[in-house]
Amino acid sequence: MRARGSVQIRDLSAASGEQVRGWIDFGETASGSLRIPLVLINGREEGPRLCLTAGVHATEYAPIDAVMRLVQALDPAQLRGTVIAVPVTNVRMFESRTGFVSPLDGLNLNKIAPGRADGSISEILADVLLREVIGAAEYHIDFHAGDLGEELQPFAGYSLTGFADLDAKGEALARAFSPMLISLSTPESTIPPFPGSLSYAATRNGVVSILAEAGGDGTLKEEDVRVHVDGAMSVMRHLAMIDGAAPPNAGTRCLAARDRVVIRAKRAGLVRLTARIGDRISAGQELGDIRSIFGEVVERVCANGDGIVGLIWTHKVVNTGDPILRYWITEPA
Ligand SMILES: [Zn+2]
Repeated sequence: MRARGSVQIRDLSAASGEQVRGWIDFGETASGSLRIPLVLINGREEGPRLCLTAGVHATEYAPIDAVMRLVQALDPAQLRGTVIAVPVTNVRMFESRTGFVSPLDGLNLNKIAPGRADGSISEILADVLLREVIGAAEYHIDFHAGDLGEELQPFAGYSLTGFADLDAKGEALARAFSPMLISLSTPESTIPPFPGSLSYAATRNGVVSILAEAGGDGTLKEEDVRVHVDGAMSVMRHLAMIDGAAPPNAGTRCLAARDRVVIRAKRAGLVRLTARIGDRISAGQELGDIRSIFGEVVERVCANGDGIVGLIWTHKVVNTGDPILRYWITEPA
């Protein structure tokens, strides 16, 4: 293998066999620069360029910790190709512990991609990320979890583009990340990744980009971090960036999402949910009940179809129309 040249994003440059860390500016507030933390890990040998972004939603801690651990663990001497890592994309959300939206302009970074250079600050961030950071790579993993108040079943998603070569690579990346559940979406479908997300926008720029989800509800659990770290390592083995056997392309237990359905409260009160994340449920099955202020059952919460519990909203009190849980409708993958 021949030695490689340096990789550079703005004034941050990593020579072959080197890891460098720094920041890139994308705007300012009255107190100073707004910056993205960036790590370049440049292997000694030729290989793909893989971008890892966490903290687009910066109260999703398991994925953030996973990218931090990967940055610490990856040795440029053992790496083929380049890893471009952003441990926390939305630093203002991270330091203010703000879920879902930027405290600066109230926008959800994963709903406004590709953004715009002449937009508000989150739109500028999306534009800089896609052009200069994710756009510097051939492959991309956007790491997420359930946000505050959301428990989640791990999965990996890819947004189909209609370009067969790109889509075959994207599906393979999703399968490499998650042996359990994959979500391959089209622009019209009811499953993620959705238009407006970074992963969706990246694929439209020709980057093979997947959405990786594990963890949630503001927690930092070892088993969730492991899903992300193991998934990323599996993707890197699949891309031959690190040593080890490639994972089997389709595990027998792997399921593909076809649709997802939200069960909402018709009545108000305290929710006693018996269903758990990952449970297989069937139509008519009782999943819990809702109690009035006097403790009487006012509604039995029942499944209206067959599926797997993919998301539970952790609020214990509901009003009419509030979501309680969401289940995946799946088929063998
Ligand atoms: Zn998220």
